[in-house]
Amino acid sequence: MPPEHDDTPRKGKKVRVPFRRNRSPRRRRKDWTQQSRDSEDQNVDSVRGEQVVPRGDLSRQRTVIVHDVPTGDALRSGTVVAVRGLFADVDDGQHIWSCTIRRILRTRSIDERNSVTVGDHVRFSMGTGRKGVAEEGAIESVELRRGQLSRRAGRRTQIIVANVDQAIIVSSAARPDPKPHLIDRYIVSALAGAITPVICMNKIDLDTEDFAAGLLERYEKLGYSTLGTSAETGQGVDTLRDMLKGKESVIAGQSGVGKSSLLNAVQPGLELRTGDVIHKYDKGRHTTTTATLIRLDIGGYVVDTPGIRALDLSIVPRGELEAHFVDLARFVPDCKFPDCTHIHEANCAVKDAVERGDIHPERYDSYVRLFTEPA
Ligand code: GDP
Ligand code: ZN
Repeated sequence: MPPEHDDTPRKGKKVRVPFRRNRSPRRRRKDWTQQSRDSEDQNVDSVRGEQVVPRGDLSRQRTVIVHDVPTGDALRSGTVVAVRGLFADVDDGQHIWSCTIRRILRTRSIDERNSVTVGDHVRFSMGTGRKGVAEEGAIESVELRRGQLSRRAGRRTQIIVANVDQAIIVSSAARPDPKPHLIDRYIVSALAGAITPVICMNKIDLDTEDFAAGLLERYEKLGYSTLGTSAETGQGVDTLRDMLKGKESVIAGQSGVGKSSLLNAVQPGLELRTGDVIHKYDKGRHTTTTATLIRLDIGGYVVDTPGIRALDLSIVPRGELEAHFVDLARFVPDCKFPDCTHIHEANCAVKDAVERGDIHPERYDSYVRLFTEPA
């Protein structure tokens, strides 16, 4: 293979070599992604073509993006708030930069499909800041991911959003009544994704019998953060705002519990595109159906997952359920059979604990329901 052009700036060469090597095997692939891969290639080709265009040409900005690969200090840090095809919107805390995703990043994790995903913490380089090109950059590296929202796509598990810190699990004291089973379900999904659950009881103004307050206490005793709120009276809204500040949060809960009202109380105008909304307004329009992050004025992000059930339990293997029930887990070592499922076995320490009242029967019931429901 002949060497690269000698007129290539040295910095740029580092990037181009892997591009070229990776091209031929990709071309042989005959799957549905062929088309987008071709347009990828085209994109890179046109950029490569532009590098020999004389200075001053309008398109020269693209050359800068591909060849100027700064290291260390020259890179900025940011959070990916949206992904649109081969581009990602990266928030550095002040600006949203439209960034290309370096092909080397895409290639490295081609099997994952999403080499860069919403919520990723990335380092990116920028154009030179000339007029019209200031908000354009290129993602150079992606940090390791922690807590994540996933869903099952066929046999694969697909990451929807990375680096989610907490799940605000919203119920309401009434209309609709709180459902402990649903709360437990959300808790398990959050924990399975390494996301910290927070139990939020909204419409606390309707809690005349203190039933919801008692439920909150149950979860507090298990060690979870809890809070009572009312979007109506404003109770607890400041606390919620403080909890959201500087973190990446997903808001989960049954429809009608007041999620939208709460977010609007936290920050007027803040709206998530719920499943309903996307059908009503976005039919036939080219809007993104993937997750995005909405930036809070006070700092931090709220995850918006239009049409996607935010916390999907289907990816929690049955055998791992017990580990996500903190109150059951402590008794598991005392079960007679090491593979005890705590459903039907004799000498089950978990069932004994339920009998004694050391495990709340509704919590055990949640476990049994999740364990026995069809996968
Ligand atoms: P979402 O489906 O979870 O987003 O719920 P919404 O925010 O749309 O609220 C559903 C209904 O509950 C609306 O009629 C709200 O006005 C009402 N609502 C929301 N929060 C409260 C609250 O704290 N107290 C009372 N009494 N009603 C509320
Ligand atoms: Zn057992």
